[in-house]
Amino acid sequence: MFGLGGSGKVAVQSLLAGGAMVAAWDDGEASRAAAAQAGVPLVDLTEADWSKFSSLVLAPAVPLTHPEPHWIVAKAKAAGVEIIGDIEIFARERAARLPDAPFIAITGTNGKSTTTALIAHILRFAGYDVQMGGNIGVAVLQLEEPALKRFHVVEMSSFQIDLTPTLAPTVGILLNVTPDHLDRHGTIENYARVKERLIGGADIAAISVDDRYCVDILKRRVAAQSAAVAFSAKNKLAPGYSMLGDEIVCANREGLAVKLGNLAGIGTLRGGHNAQNALAAVAAVREALAALGMPTDIDWQGALSSFGGLAHRMEELGNLGRVLFINDSKATNADSTEKALLSFPRDVYWILGGKPKDGGIETLAPYFAGITKAYLIGAATDAFAQSLDGKVAYERSGTLDAAVAAATRDASASAAGQPVVLLSPACASYDQFKNFEVRGDAFRALVAELPGITMRGRA
Ligand code: ADP
Repeated sequence: MFGLGGSGKVAVQSLLAGGAMVAAWDDGEASRAAAAQAGVPLVDLTEADWSKFSSLVLAPAVPLTHPEPHWIVAKAKAAGVEIIGDIEIFARERAARLPDAPFIAITGTNGKSTTTALIAHILRFAGYDVQMGGNIGVAVLQLEEPALKRFHVVEMSSFQIDLTPTLAPTVGILLNVTPDHLDRHGTIENYARVKERLIGGADIAAISVDDRYCVDILKRRVAAQSAAVAFSAKNKLAPGYSMLGDEIVCANREGLAVKLGNLAGIGTLRGGHNAQNALAAVAAVREALAALGMPTDIDWQGALSSFGGLAHRMEELGNLGRVLFINDSKATNADSTEKALLSFPRDVYWILGGKPKDGGIETLAPYFAGITKAYLIGAATDAFAQSLDGKVAYERSGTLDAAVAAATRDASASAAGQPVVLLSPACASYDQFKNFEVRGDAFRALVAELPGITMRGRA
């Protein structure tokens, strides 16, 4: 085992519990010390005899190929030792013991966590035992073991897919493919190929047709005569899952459609991007249930309406009179912030800034008309002020505290029906916060202290 962060340590414990002989290592002295404390058997893999090893289990954060293979990868390859990840261990155990145990795997460039959480919620709402983990929350080997009516709902990053050669879920979902993480995958074509492997071994593949990489992947799947369902938040599909206004519908080849829930008024599923996530979730659950011979007539509307949403992703924090406070701290780049500005098209009091990304906020200019005022924080202040100059009223707030105070004052004085104070920074947080979660938590705490605020409880 190499890489002794959270999932690495869990993998070691699982392997030991399963009777494997384990040699574990990490580049960092602090990680090794913490692992040793937790009873992990350390062996210096720079000097070990590699002829004795059957597999190298790699933590997903360790570079397999790009920008260049980590030294441990080179060593394993030279010794002819396979390289796998913790989800591969899960996949092999499931295949060996209970290959029909329900297993839904989710990937895509954006929306993975939302879709994974929504699938878990719908299944729980319908009364099933759900084990959710992988790239979200809990490491997969920390979950309960596979069982016949227990659904494993597993979010997978490209890095994890790279390390899971025998992945064979009941349903594999591909949400979207857009250029991202190219530092770790080289070209977009290579990145798309990795994403395609998630659905390669799936009994049923649920694939979006809203971007060209996904369309090509679906075409190849259909050409190979493997089971596939398409979904689209943009176009009407027959057959497939798509939107009829705010309604999720599934149409058969003849165009005959069943309605599966309406997204209108569901605050946790606002915006076209969330329509894509909701379509994927409904499609995955319905197809998985049908494939497993379980009833599919669940209360979709009840399930969708009761979804609590995820923290920091267009999260509704609460109201102060007519003013709505939204925490979108997860939006660390302009693409993500675009989704928020599309979802809140007017009367927005926008808090943004932090550690800027390449390209800044230039691409957001088409949405500036909906912003009443912007409040700039952090290192991006000067660059963003230049982008906004002459187009949007703004002030240099500097800190999040000052920005919340000013935006609240201005929004409260507005005559609009529902002014929105939106934290959607379009920046990394590292100049002022440890990470986006800490930034979002700080925002929530500031909002919670406002006199007269009504906070919303999240499920
Ligand atoms: P991931 O787990 O893939 O990072 P999340 O569900 O955590 O995705 O959402 C992160 C951000 O990505 C959201 O705040 C939103 O801005 C954007 N997003 C979510 N779903 C989608 C989607 N289907 N398409 C494009 N962008 C999305």
